[in-house]
Amino acid sequence: MVQITMPLNFLGTVYREIRQALVDMGEMFDLLEQPAEIKDKPNAKPIEIDKGHIELRNVVFGYEAERVILKGVDIDVEGGQTVAIVGASGSGKSTIGRLLFRFYDVQSGGLFIDGQDVRDVTQESLHKSIGVVPQDTVLFNDTIRYNIAYGRDGATQADVEAAAKAAQIHDFVESLPEGYDTMVGERGLKLSGGEKQRVGIARTLLKDPPLLLLDEATSALDTETEQSIKEALAHAGHGRTVITIAHRLSTIAEADRIVVLEAGEVVEQGKHEELLAREGRYAQLWHRQLNETDLAS
Ligand code: ADP
Ligand code: MG
Repeated sequence: MVQITMPLNFLGTVYREIRQALVDMGEMFDLLEQPAEIKDKPNAKPIEIDKGHIELRNVVFGYEAERVILKGVDIDVEGGQTVAIVGASGSGKSTIGRLLFRFYDVQSGGLFIDGQDVRDVTQESLHKSIGVVPQDTVLFNDTIRYNIAYGRDGATQADVEAAAKAAQIHDFVESLPEGYDTMVGERGLKLSGGEKQRVGIARTLLKDPPLLLLDEATSALDTETEQSIKEALAHAGHGRTVITIAHRLSTIAEADRIVVLEAGEVVEQGKHEELLAREGRYAQLWHRQLNETDLAS
């Protein structure tokens, strides 16, 4: 018996790890496409997170040497703060996320987490420290429970439910005839974009990473979904440093700070009210979005 169950358990673990790695990769493709071959330094140490202070210092980066995308970006996010990055499509928002994961190395300047250059720490520890809620959460063809629980090894039903409650998806799950045993994914129940995102948030909450990177969906959500996602994200952001690539007016307005990116440069940063009062780029973006929302509703 021992001879048979041991290898099976072992294979089960490996299978689970591979499956998880694939989904983690899949999830990141929106925000973090095409990881390049980046190697750990020989003396790389695991990152040590204290307050979760994130700092971009004069970051210059291009995917190709001849085309610079980020042209000297400075962003300072204090531990526990939520910073929203806004800007037109192509301005470099997702690129900042990819650099934070060190999927590419900067041409000059640097990214620091609690004072540690991301180039000096192991990528494994770096990736474990940053939770991602992507635009599109990839679901396994498995139960809702599995889809949430895989965020953490050995998660109990109570853990899953607590995360689902915080992510505002528990009531929905309970309303299904099979509850947490409901099969989802391509061959199961199709979830709406908002439901999928809340499953993704629950999964991330269970992982409990100190840093959080959110890439909000651009598509309009109905008011109720918008409200529940807002609540889910408020829970997710509690006690964590959050960088949000923001599209929703509600998220933007409530961020501790807003960074306006334009063609790879920070053109304004500050609080919502300050930026509105300045009547610059942010105020323009804001009024344009308000008009679009008016038109859409
Ligand atoms: P945003 O998220 O603000 O829409 P991105 O950071 O995704 O913008 O992209 C910024 C610029 O970098 C765009 O011009 C985009 O075409 C370019 N870009 C993004 N990914 C790659 C890549 N893998 N290779 C080359 N150029 C890229
Ligand atoms: Mg993007």
